[in-house]
Amino acid sequence: MKILRSISEFHQWRQNQVKPIHFVPTMGALHEGHRSLLMRAKSDHEANPEQGLVVLSIFVNPTQFNDPNDLKNYPSTWDADVEMAQAAGVDVLFAPQFSDIYPDQYRYFISENHWSQILCGATRPGHFNGVLTVVMKLMQIVQPKKAYFGEKDYQQLMLVQQMISAFFMNIEIVGVPTVRESSGLALSSRNTRLSPEGRDKARWIYYHLKNSKTTNEASEKLLQLGFQIDYLEEHWGRRFAAVFIEGVRLIDNVAI
Ligand code: AMP
Repeated sequence: MKILRSISEFHQWRQNQVKPIHFVPTMGALHEGHRSLLMRAKSDHEANPEQGLVVLSIFVNPTQFNDPNDLKNYPSTWDADVEMAQAAGVDVLFAPQFSDIYPDQYRYFISENHWSQILCGATRPGHFNGVLTVVMKLMQIVQPKKAYFGEKDYQQLMLVQQMISAFFMNIEIVGVPTVRESSGLALSSRNTRLSPEGRDKARWIYYHLKNSKTTNEASEKLLQLGFQIDYLEEHWGRRFAAVFIEGVRLIDNVAI
């Protein structure tokens, strides 16, 4: 596995590649959810031995963090990430620096003005501008044929899919189902910031999203358990929640 830390190094590698690229963008602190995206990217490749190299990017994108504390506390597990990437058969790990990705200091950005305004966009102003901008920049650099995103961040997956279509980009966006602990808790890099009690309690998010008859019932159950609710709403045939526990914001969604 090659580790490339700058855009120029990446370009140098990329210009000699004839095989299509399967791309998995992440912010690191890799877990089984990320691994599932990598395995999917890898197996898409193996379906046709003629094709496919897996590129994983790790870049903690500051422009999508509206809360400086959240950015400061975002976990970093570089050595374990390299190990997981290698074991998953990643061909290139691309880990650029801020100055590389934002030479314009974020004067230019992608802005979506409809579906990015609800759910996570309503309570995290500017979040999706940051997400879509970094995804656009990474797509321009990596030039993949396919890119893999988790359903755990369903609103993000949908906005990325629609951006690719709006800008006529020839990239297939593949949605990958949410990977959960056996308790039902959706895996997230932020789970590591919870105490053992908090982590145990967090399983109720999925349970009540899935088993409540209405959003009101789910909200009441979670409030009774001491969660602070950012939102709990239904859109596009799915039920979405963002809640705080021990000061950590967790999101999840289920099909209804
Ligand atoms: P992140 O590093 O949190 O930005 O996530 C990188 C990618 O991994 C995104 O496409 C996420 O949706 C996806 N992802 C994160 N957690 C999970 C999970 N539990 N199951 C499936 N995909 C996930």
